[in-house]
Amino acid sequence: MSILKINNLTFRYKHKFIFDNFNLEIEPGSWVTIAGPNGSGKTTLVKILAGLEKSYANITIFNKPLNKKNMHEIRSNIGFVFDNPDNFFACETVLDELAFSLENLGVYPETIKKKIKEVSSLLKIDDLLNENPYDLSGGEKQKAALACALMLEPRILILDEAFLMIDVNEREVILKTLKEYNRKKRVTIISFTHNLDESIYSDRLIILNNGIITIDGSFPEVFCEERVMRKIGLEVPFAIELSEKLKVYNLIDDLELDLERLVSLIWK
Ligand code: ADP
Repeated sequence: MSILKINNLTFRYKHKFIFDNFNLEIEPGSWVTIAGPNGSGKTTLVKILAGLEKSYANITIFNKPLNKKNMHEIRSNIGFVFDNPDNFFACETVLDELAFSLENLGVYPETIKKKIKEVSSLLKIDDLLNENPYDLSGGEKQKAALACALMLEPRILILDEAFLMIDVNEREVILKTLKEYNRKKRVTIISFTHNLDESIYSDRLIILNNGIITIDGSFPEVFCEERVMRKIGLEVPFAIELSEKLKVYNLIDDLELDLERLVSLIWK
């Protein structure tokens, strides 16, 4: 049974249709990456799921229709992280920001303290706790926003270009951490990005172009269609390009997105 189901979504800005009869189902506990070039409709879809844009659709989340009546309950079980956290923070320190939502729910201070410790050490932001969120770098702000989303232990985590400002090496560590979190806590992750490198740990990859799902499948299935990806303007990750060439010479059997694994395969 799916944890999120979109049936026959139609949405337009004035006269421009962004989605027309769009359908999607997400399995619970999976990590799904929805990748597409700029303008493909990613942020619009996130806004629709957050109830920030009104659409004609039959959307069910946690088996409940996404409507005015259920919105609050559904939203409180989803962690959203948007691309630009600049308007997101309301407190003077990252610590207060992390505590904010749980305090509003009346959670015991001791429990909040414990949770802050757990989340900040998971994302390695302990040294940022006493900083003003607005003094942080873009990448640090994105990590703090992600930490805020995790504080509530959401059943679904929806990420919209949430790693855009985090540098490559750190992003790799965070993606790995999130994969472990996804496995351990069975949280469903839906990440929207234009950068295919970020899809490395997802179970399913969906390529979106002009509001249409162009490709949908597991890694090998999707990356076999790399010509389609190039055509719509998505950059194919270096590891995929390299492994394609190595495959031609029978040096490896399958396409590999993880550069580290690729190197160990070659050295075997
Ligand atoms: P993505 O996140 O994939 O870059 P968006 O969902 O932001 O795509 O945008 C999809 C299309 O909708 C784009 O052509 C964009 O110009 C248009 N669009 C986005 N927001 C608005 C808006 N508020 N009013 C009119 N058009 C918009």
